[in-house]
Amino acid sequence: MTYIIPFKKRPVRIGQGFNGMSHRKWPEDKEDFSYSIDFLLPEGTKIIASRSGVVEALKINGKKNYSGRDLKKGEEAYKKWMNELIIKHSDGTYAAYSHLKYKGSFVKIGDKVKQGQVIALSGNTGWSSAPHLDFTVFKKNSGKYKIKSIKIKFKDYNGHLEDMEIKMKKIIFTDLDGTLLDSRYSYSDAKPALKLIEKKKIPLVICTSKTRAEIEYYRKKLKNRHPFISDNGGAVFIPKKYFDFKFKYDKTKGRYYVIELGTELKKLRDFVKKIKRMGFKIISFDGMTAKQVAKDTGLPLSLAKLAKKREYNLPVKIPETGKKNKNSIIKRLKAEAKKAGLSFIKGGRYSHITGKNDKGKAVKILLRLYRKKYKRRKGIKSIGIGDSENDFPMLDAVDMAFLVQRPDKSYSSEKKKYKRAKGISTKGWNNALMSELKEEND
Ligand SMILES: [Mg+2]
Repeated sequence: MTYIIPFKKRPVRIGQGFNGMSHRKWPEDKEDFSYSIDFLLPEGTKIIASRSGVVEALKINGKKNYSGRDLKKGEEAYKKWMNELIIKHSDGTYAAYSHLKYKGSFVKIGDKVKQGQVIALSGNTGWSSAPHLDFTVFKKNSGKYKIKSIKIKFKDYNGHLEDMEIKMKKIIFTDLDGTLLDSRYSYSDAKPALKLIEKKKIPLVICTSKTRAEIEYYRKKLKNRHPFISDNGGAVFIPKKYFDFKFKYDKTKGRYYVIELGTELKKLRDFVKKIKRMGFKIISFDGMTAKQVAKDTGLPLSLAKLAKKREYNLPVKIPETGKKNKNSIIKRLKAEAKKAGLSFIKGGRYSHITGKNDKGKAVKILLRLYRKKYKRRKGIKSIGIGDSENDFPMLDAVDMAFLVQRPDKSYSSEKKKYKRAKGISTKGWNNALMSELKEEND
């Protein structure tokens, strides 16, 4: 063990250890700071050389710090104001002593320094939320990284160096009907989990075959400001100021950027007309008045009107018939849809005629954007929860998938990947997420 703690003050207080939240790999910059350590120190604490070497670089004229979370401002502060002393060791590794005090150095470039020699004063410059010393031992040009931090030990310290707070950002994707909403379209049984989700600031992304108009109704009630996926993956709606970076979208609609994945409604209508002519007895949403929809679904008339505002998806219903018969009809409908370049997807209350879109493709698009948004975290952990076949692509796209029970207490799939939430729809939703979220501190 070659290194000593780079100051004499005791006890040693560590703000962020190895694998800390802001000490991540940043592949785009070819930098890996996974093994940086933040020592909490009052400004002006004497810093000593952790290991002997030669002063390789020194910047000491930065005066300010930025303590916020804004990426751009943080990076600017990092470049402009962070004072740093870099010492090269005999084996070609380097140690960086960072966030030093303005003009707080006792050495200059080219100086030889001995282990334990006072070299600088700690500070709070650059992107820094509190006075501290960031200490990183690293190699240059190692593998794909220009800077690769190295895991080290200190010979005068046996304490804990791993960060205790490795946190992944969780994102939840949820179906509505039969999942977050029960058969009466109520989510009151999910209130405890909804509260926890809000408290932990976890994005809750609605991913449903419902229309944008219907989703907006529930988003308002839930005070949800996150993106959402409508029409069974037909479109992704992203509030305009949600991501602070540019991304591709197809159009703007009202307050949203819209990424369109679905097929326009006219083509879906034409297909339904065609299969009706072929003798399939199906009832299309289109052929129903809002009143009929209300009666059939149990929705209040005002919501039935919103449900009829289709954009990329046409719900259809197969009239009551034996289960065996129904399955064979579904099989044939799937084949017909495929021939027409469309999809027939079995849902809970209704089935859906859609384009080649599904919930999974839409979820993957949002996951890419979220990964970028939270790139300084350890990563994101995506959770999906649904109740029926049209949820499977969504469940396949996430890290952790839950199925809630259907009204007859069954689950719509035996697949191992889908964890079985205990409880019918909303109750299962609440149970699954309560136990998943309370375990860790997010
Ligand atoms: Mg459902």
